Amino acid sequence: MLVKIIIVFLGLMALVAFVGRVLFPSALPRVLRKTATAPVCGTCGRHLIGQKTCGCGGRAN
Ligand SMILES: [Zn+2]
Repeated sequence: MLVKIIIVFLGLMALVAFVGRVLFPSALPRVLRKTATAPVCGTCGRHLIGQKTCGCGGRAN
């Protein structure tokens, strides 16, 4: 009985987290969104994928 309550509770938590992520994607901390955004050059604003420095001489910020 107790195990069933725990499973239901965990399921509700997962559901709340899923709904919250769909409704409020901007409310997530930056760590969780790191994969969605590539580093951007601080000088020209170009996306830097797989490199730390840009062709224009700027660096990723
Ligand atoms: Zn650049």
